[in-house]
Amino acid sequence: MKLMLLAGDGIGPEIADATERVLEALEKRHNLGIELFRQPVGLEALKQHGVTVTDETFADAGAVDGVILGPVSTVDYPPKEKGGLNPSAEFRKRFDLYANIRPSRTRPNVPASVKQMDLVIVRENTEGFYADRTMFQGSGEFMPTADVALAVRKITRQGSERIGRAGASIADGRRNKMTIVTKSNVLKMTDGLFRNAAQSGARDYAGIEVEEVLVDAMASLLVREPERFDVVVTSNMFGDILSNLAAELAGGLGVAGSLNAGDGFAIAQASHGSAPDIAGRGTANPVALILSTAMLIGWIGKRQENEAAILAAHAMERAVDAALASGGALTADLGGSASTQDAALAISRAILPE
Ligand code: NAD
Repeated sequence: MKLMLLAGDGIGPEIADATERVLEALEKRHNLGIELFRQPVGLEALKQHGVTVTDETFADAGAVDGVILGPVSTVDYPPKEKGGLNPSAEFRKRFDLYANIRPSRTRPNVPASVKQMDLVIVRENTEGFYADRTMFQGSGEFMPTADVALAVRKITRQGSERIGRAGASIADGRRNKMTIVTKSNVLKMTDGLFRNAAQSGARDYAGIEVEEVLVDAMASLLVREPERFDVVVTSNMFGDILSNLAAELAGGLGVAGSLNAGDGFAIAQASHGSAPDIAGRGTANPVALILSTAMLIGWIGKRQENEAAILAAHAMERAVDAALASGGALTADLGGSASTQDAALAISRAILPE
């Protein structure tokens, strides 16, 4: 299994090293034939090559089974014309990564605001309200006069159908329930189309119970009754907001893994940013990137019908829970005192006891 590791900026290199260490233990225990390639991305690539992601990196990414992308300090990048490409956005566009898959689960020893949560938010990633994704030419945000600003929201049948199908395929391996979140009582055409097409995509999977919940009600229910949700499918901006809410309720961004997936390619990416305030101290929590990597290995396993990879991904998840339960992976953000490397070691030992 060929994986590309792009460490990124800020705490990226620290949590990438931790992830590599865990992958070494996984390889020893599960023999997946993991080969890890590193390439610079972000400010390091800008310094070396004058651009935050090179064409060579994109070409190499196309030849591996999956990519692990650390957080990137996009706020500090120069404009695109001066080499400041947003790596996440570029990968998403070039590889048509339309599904942002973000699980949130309460975990042992991790302080959470809710008693129990185990859900996956599947966020449409290529359309919606995002000005860089709605137009063939020009921006989806514009000002007809100095005092009026407009934004266009794009919803297509094809985009909504495929995100519905992606959600149902995940629900199929879980509790067989899918909640489509919309504001179709107000946005009758756009969210009406989103709901109908997502329902139609979900029909490819038999036995999935599909319901619709309005986004405002969803914000309350996530806090009040999160245990009733299994897979939540929604459009881009609703998904952006609800997935951060869910992650925070379940224990915070430090334990929130995520995968950006298309039909043939996926990228593991932690939900959090590059945390410049704690970079270089060795205290960053590597769990989110490690869980994202477990998701990637599971996704590759499912796609390639590689049972060993699917089992290894589950083992990584269980190892994270064990290391959290023992306190070995509790970094400062989770109320503990483990360093980034302590956490990596505790997770590695849970995979491969010494
Ligand atoms: P952030 O997620 O980097 O940090 C928010 C807070 O959470 C900080 O206090 C930080 O210390 C803490 N935190 C985040 N990850 C942590 C971890 N693994 N362990 C312990 N604490 C952690 O958000 P920000 O400060 O708004 O953004 C910083 C930079 O990250 C910006 O340049 C932004 O553009 C970028 N960003 C990148 C991504 C990405 O690469 N996917 C996502 C969001 C933000």
